[in-house]
This record gives sequence, C-alpha cells and structure tokens, in this order.
Amino acid sequence: MTVQERINALREKAIAEQKLFIDGKWVDGEGEPLEVVSPIDGQVLTTAERASAADVNRAVAAARQAFEDGRWSKMAPAGRKKVLHRIADLIEERAIELTVLGVRDNGTEFNMAIKAEAGSAAGTFRYYAEAVDKIYGEVAPTSPDVLGLVHKTPVGVVGAIVPWNFPLMIGAWKLAPALATGNSVVLKPAETASLSLLNLAEICAEAGLPDGVLNVVTGQGSVTGEAIAMSMDVDVLVFTGSGGVGRRLLEYSAASNLKRVYLELGGKSPNIVFADAPDLEKAAAVSAAGIFRNSGQVCVAGSRLLVERSIHDEFVDALSRHAAAFKVGDPLDLTSQIGAVNSMVQLEGNLGFVSDATAQGAELALGGGRILESTGGYYMEPTVLTGVKPDDRVFREEVFGPVLAVTAFDSDEEAIALANGTDYGLSAGVWTGSLSRTHKMVAGIRSGIVHVNTYGGSDNTVPLGGVKQSGNGHDKSMHAIEKYLDLKTAWIQL
Ligand code: NAD
Repeated sequence: MTVQERINALREKAIAEQKLFIDGKWVDGEGEPLEVVSPIDGQVLTTAERASAADVNRAVAAARQAFEDGRWSKMAPAGRKKVLHRIADLIEERAIELTVLGVRDNGTEFNMAIKAEAGSAAGTFRYYAEAVDKIYGEVAPTSPDVLGLVHKTPVGVVGAIVPWNFPLMIGAWKLAPALATGNSVVLKPAETASLSLLNLAEICAEAGLPDGVLNVVTGQGSVTGEAIAMSMDVDVLVFTGSGGVGRRLLEYSAASNLKRVYLELGGKSPNIVFADAPDLEKAAAVSAAGIFRNSGQVCVAGSRLLVERSIHDEFVDALSRHAAAFKVGDPLDLTSQIGAVNSMVQLEGNLGFVSDATAQGAELALGGGRILESTGGYYMEPTVLTGVKPDDRVFREEVFGPVLAVTAFDSDEEAIALANGTDYGLSAGVWTGSLSRTHKMVAGIRSGIVHVNTYGGSDNTVPLGGVKQSGNGHDKSMHAIEKYLDLKTAWIQL
C-alpha cells in the first residue's frame, strides 16, 4: 500500500466521541461536549469533552496523588527512560495514523505534519529519554566543615496549555522534559486540535506510564484552561499560545498560588534579505516556504520581509513566483504543499488583516483571498503585501496566517531598526554573503533565534524561546529541563 492509499483508508474513519483522560481512565466531563470541526471541509468529526473547573480539579488531584506516592517521581531514572523510549517507539509505529488524525483536526498539510508532528514528537521523547539519567546535582565549594549539596528535584504537578498549530510537537516539548524529570502533568490541548494529544495519552498508558501521571483535559480556554492556571495545586504552568492569553496566565498565577509561569508566545519575525545574498533565487524559495507552509500558522514564520531597496522588485517577484506555485488544497492529498487554515475564526482574522493593510496603503502583490470555498473548508491563498510601513497594523501585529508584509530598507542600521520595531522577538532570518554583516545582524537583532542564509529548521539540541513579548521560557534542548526542576540545598554541618 502506498502512503497515499494508507491516508485515504484512514481519512474517512469514524472517530469516537472523545473523553477526558484522568487517572488512567476515560471519563465524561461535566460540560456540554464541544463539536470538533474539520477545517478540510467544515464537517463535524466528533465531539470532545468540555471539562469544568471540577473536572480539572479531579485531574490535578490525580496528578498530585501520583506525584506524592512516587509511582513515577521516585522511579529510578533508568526506568523512566525505558517508558519514554517506548512512547517514542509507539509514536513512530503509528506515525501515519496519528498524523492523519491530527490533520483532520487542524488542517496542516500531511507532508509537513508527518515530520513536524509525529516525527518531531518521537524525537523529542527520545531526546529527553536519553537526558533523564544525565542530570546531576552539585556539591558546593563550601568550607571543609560543611557539606553543601544542591539537589535537583521535580517541581510536582505541571499544568501544560498548548495551541492548535502543532499540537503533538508542542505537546511533546512540554510533556517529555516534564515527565523525564519525574513530574506529573495536566495537559490541555486547544479547542481546535485535541485529537492527536488524546491519542498520545493512550500511547503513554500503553507504554507503561503509570495512571495519574499524565492527565488530558479538553475544553474551552476560558473555563478549562483558567481552572488549571488558577489551581492552588499546580506548581508550574507551561504555555504556548498568544500574548493575550499569556498575560492572563500571569494574572491567574498572581491571583492563586504564585506558580511559576513559562510563556512561549507569538512572533512577527523579520526575514532580512541583502543584495549580497549568495543565492537570491534560493533565498526567495526558502523565504516563501518560511512564511507560507502550514498556511503561515507557524510561530517562527518569517512574516515580515525586509529587503534591500536595490533588489526589492526583483526579489518580491521571485518570492511571489515561488509562492504562487505552491499547491494549496486538501491537506491529506500528498501533492498539496499548503493545507487548510485552522478555523473560520482564524480565516476571517487573516482576511481582516489584508483589508486593513490595503486601507493603510499597502499594495497587494499576490493573493489576498479565500479559495476553494466550495469544499466547505478554510483555505487562503499565499498573500504578499508590499509598501508596508512600520506603523501599519500588519507590520506590528501577528497575523498567524499566510500573509507576508514587505518593507524596503537602505542600510544595515535601518534593517536592524526595522527588525526590532515590534513588541515581538521570537525568530529572524538574514541573507548575506558577508561574514561581518552576519555577526553584526546576529548581535543587533533582538530575538530568540537568527537564521542565516536559511529560514526555519532547528532541532532538539538548541533552545526555542522568545525575548520581549514573545515570551520568557525555552522549549527544547537541556535548557528546557530547568523549568521542570527545583533546586534544593542540603546544608550539612560535619
Ligand atoms: P491561544 O493563546 O488562543 O490559545 C492557546 C491555548 O490557551 C489554547 O489551549 C486555549 O484553549 C488556551 N486558553 C485560551 N484562553 C485561556 C484562558 N483564559 N486561560 C487559560 N487558557 C486559555 O493561541 P492559539 O490561537 O491556540 O495559538 C496561536 C498562538 O500560539 C500564536 O500567537 C503563535 O505564535 C503562538 N505559538 C507560539 C509558539 C512558540 O514556540 N513561541 C509555538 C506555536 C504557537
């Protein structure tokens, strides 16, 4: 059977009504279930539970009980390592099933999702499985009559709230290091992308993760998410999503138990192309992919193109040519290079950004509209806006859609000022053949990552996190582990 045939066999499969996963069991929630709508055709796939505050409290209590009795937190690291590897094995074995399920739910093109979702999640579980028995405490250099031991201890119960654009990948970025270090977790997927994470809960149980260590509660952000963030018994909250919700989580922490809150937020990332870039055609092709794949619903998307004025027209033409050539359509058709926008709300928001931009004087060089409406799904053509000014809304605010804002610059200093001219600081790109300009740009741009002569791409060995209003924590790499550990000093008089 070809991959396309396997996908076709799975794409119409009925999906059972989804339940909450609490203390190792599938249970009903108190609220009226939510409809799960597929962005591929606007049809209802199934329902997911809408967890109430009381449901969340039950999940937190199960997580606390599991943590306190040590069924996982006191297991030898080598034992936890085995389970995490087994989770990775099962994700790999079921990669196509998991990916098709996730794509039906959130609309990402299968071609991207198979690597970025299942592939990435398996890799993340392996990375932290390998890390688990390499985390050492410290012996402090105290005076000889004292022994100062610094233990690294799990924080306890972690609340994890994640978005819809890459649920498995981002879910794994939180779950794998949290579980590796012995914590229990209550995870809340986004309303419009919960199916693959519910499936992951089943995989974790099958791999031998003890009951209560991972609990998954679905529901509305303002009810289910708020209850996790307000819980007096959640010790650390890890979040990926928008700045608006991130701000609320800090307030919830202040209003409850002062839990630590780590925020991975949005971006408005500059992709800067200089006339001396070694291969402008490659720069145009990679830059087009860097904004338009997954319909622009990528936190690090290079959504602002800053281009040196001398090559502006030529470069915008080349990028638009590559963008226009992308096949947008059914994300489960392997020939599609861009899938669906996640929801109608998101699509309407994208279109609103385009009309605001043209009203503010930007020119539409490509796209701008909804397409394939007859499918019932939510599709948008790659859109390029030129002549965007630093005060324009589309320059400053995150669209989180397939919309590229283009601005010309004349000098290195102006490029840096434009790059830093938003509240965000997540990602950036620089295309140049000059080594000294490369270093000047990397030093001058305020962001968590700067890509040079490429855009996108990274792996588990490097941290991902933002500066300014793009957030305050890091996923991936050994740095992520620090979020899930407390330091405890034993001061021993000898
Ligand atoms: P969102 O902030 O609307 O929702 C994220 C999650 O928060 C969802 O699970 C939602 O239900 C929950 N939520 C909503 N209101 C809540 C509340 N009052 N209390 C608690 N939880 C609440 O974001 P989204 O639309 O799902 O995702 C898109 C955003 O995520 C974009 O801004 C994007 O840039 C960002 N993102 C960032 C990264 C990163 O690594 N920095 C990665 C992916 C996405």
